[in-house]
Amino acid sequence: MRSVLVLNSGSSSLKYQLVDADSEEVLAEGGVQRIGESGATSSHSSGGRRTDGDGRPVADHAEALALVVSAFAEHGPHLDDVDLVAVGHRVVHGGDRSEPTVITDEVLAEIEDLQVLAPLHNRAAATGIRAARELRPDLPHVAVFDTAFFASLPAAASTYAIDAEVAARHRIRRYGFHGTSHAWVSARGAELVGRPLSELRQIVLHLGNGASASAVDGGRPVDTSMGLTPLEGLVMGTRSGDLDPAVVLTLARAGWSTEDLDALLNKRSGLLGLSGVNDFRALMERVDAGDEAARLALDVYVHRLVRYVGGYHALLGGAELLTFTAGVGENAPRLRAAVVQRLRPLGFVLDEEANGADRRDARTISTPDSPVTVAVVPTNEELAIARQALEAVG
Ligand code: AMP
Repeated sequence: MRSVLVLNSGSSSLKYQLVDADSEEVLAEGGVQRIGESGATSSHSSGGRRTDGDGRPVADHAEALALVVSAFAEHGPHLDDVDLVAVGHRVVHGGDRSEPTVITDEVLAEIEDLQVLAPLHNRAAATGIRAARELRPDLPHVAVFDTAFFASLPAAASTYAIDAEVAARHRIRRYGFHGTSHAWVSARGAELVGRPLSELRQIVLHLGNGASASAVDGGRPVDTSMGLTPLEGLVMGTRSGDLDPAVVLTLARAGWSTEDLDALLNKRSGLLGLSGVNDFRALMERVDAGDEAARLALDVYVHRLVRYVGGYHALLGGAELLTFTAGVGENAPRLRAAVVQRLRPLGFVLDEEANGADRRDARTISTPDSPVTVAVVPTNEELAIARQALEAVG
């Protein structure tokens, strides 16, 4: 047996999955949350059994990783028994890098350097990587970048219309994120409809707590909704998505600091800012209870989605496949219906029964004669990272 450990270090969390390199079975998974706070939560699942941690505080990612290693030792499988061949790290910002990269000191320095563009995310990833490399210096560690799939965005899509010299000096352009998911789902979508990826024009909606859309032509990205950072684009759980940049200027002139603005737009906006909840299920419960703020939040969310899909449909010269993925996309049939019904004049015809069916697999949810096929495809970023880490180490 050979296996790959996939680590996803967030600002205050560390999620992991141990994947069998040959069968691709998940051997164990878990996470540590609330790192650096007064009490951490953690869980480890393996062999159909889940164990929760005791809630004691975890100071940093190094300590979190030590906790993970002891969970493996205690509840299995023991890391010495699974022939670990690589550790794959999810890294949000990879700058211009388009390939999974074996992490050297230079690569780590580069990831830290990109903190300017992704302060929360890359700092956490760098901390997690450093801790993991210290713990297992014998193993190759591979960075898989969220931006990689979008490194080949056409210039027309990646360029902001600001002073070109200023943009170049500060590396300001549209990078795109969730690339691992968009690449995975667009490849799966092509398989699902039995068409070569290289010939298919498709739109992918990754709708989780973070949310992004992409237009993919022949397996290559044509446009995506996230930009310099994961803040641009769709309405998200706590992020605003698109707004007039003058909103920021107006608040800055009213005395808001950079940190306050960052927190407002990244953590207190989106569904949360409009309705008081960022969880989509909670939002729908409030909508059903007649809560007007929740209704407006949902309307804004759907409005933005329809606008993006319509725009991408035009950019692609007519999409042939629209795919929903991630927490909301995979599990919220009412949201899918609300979006697709609005797109009916453009040739997206929903099969209500297929859309409402309680299924977890990749499936189509449009009528057989719908000009554009609509599908649901579960994303699997961990498996995608495991595969890429394996490839990178040969
Ligand atoms: P993710 O970031 O992909 O884990 O997605 C998280 C989002 O998916 C949260 O807003 C959840 O409320 C939402 N979600 C998960 N399960 C469901 C469900 N059964 N129905 C509606 N939304 C869901």
